[in-house]
Amino acid sequence: TKNQKIAIVTGANKGIGYEIARQLAQAGLRTVLTARNEELGREATKKVAEATAGSDAVQFMQLDIASPRSVDDFGRWAEQELPNVDILINNAGIAYKGNVFGAEEARTTMATNFAGTRAVCERLERLIPEGGRIVNVCSLAGKQSILRSPELRSRFENASSAEEVATLSEDFLQGLSSGSYGKEGWPGSMYGVSKLCEATYSRVLAEQLKPRGVAVYACCPGYVATDMSSFKGHKTPEQGADTPVWLALHAPSSGSGKFYSDRKEEPF
Ligand code: NDP
Repeated sequence: TKNQKIAIVTGANKGIGYEIARQLAQAGLRTVLTARNEELGREATKKVAEATAGSDAVQFMQLDIASPRSVDDFGRWAEQELPNVDILINNAGIAYKGNVFGAEEARTTMATNFAGTRAVCERLERLIPEGGRIVNVCSLAGKQSILRSPELRSRFENASSAEEVATLSEDFLQGLSSGSYGKEGWPGSMYGVSKLCEATYSRVLAEQLKPRGVAVYACCPGYVATDMSSFKGHKTPEQGADTPVWLALHAPSSGSGKFYSDRKEEPF
């Protein structure tokens, strides 16, 4: 219908992303559920439609955020098929389990959580009108306090462009390859640093989009029982989706650029 708000959710075939898509469709938004795996994505879309009383407001599109080609194909589709994008929720993310730690794995983690999220934002931001919102699902595991050098902390704090964040991300990956990351003050968490880059990028993007009246929020869903946490989290996916959905629909626009957890601003 006309005037119906349009939302896009990444990594929505399961876990928190699925719940975000379901809650947005339930709230009456035209919701584009995306996933890198087409079959899983279509199944999830059918489930959302059933859960929202056969809503025709949900549709599926394939999107692998770590593939520049997929991001571009999706962007072209959105340009052609959607009048605009009111809400973009970057939920897709990965975390290696156990003690997996290495330069290659770090590169993959960064290419998804930070660079993938950045690529989606950069491809779609032109479609977001005044009053539109971007919500990036980050993590409290990626706060500045995980950095063990004041110099690195101030580099993150003062970063003012996506390129600067990309340089920080590259420095971490280099430090991992050469083995000097610890000496340089980086923590031993690939996931933590990738989420810190993602949240720092959110702040930078918020500043950049402010003149156009587009808000950008970073948030932590809490510890949620999903595949990622091996179902150990104490929150249900429904509870985990609460803050991202609240940011998308109700948060004050003055909170743009801030980090949220449990619907509250979180010092970052
Ligand atoms: P899940 O592992 O259940 O879901 C992650 C989703 O991201 C899946 O749909 C996965 O797809 C998708 N994904 C991964 N890589 C890509 C990609 N390249 N392109 C598109 N989609 C991709 O985890 P959660 O639901 O728990 O995680 C959702 C978000 O919440 C993540 O960003 C995570 O970091 C964050 N988070 C989660 C916490 C928790 O306790 N669970 C705590 C803090 C933050 P596929 O099924 O194909 O792998």
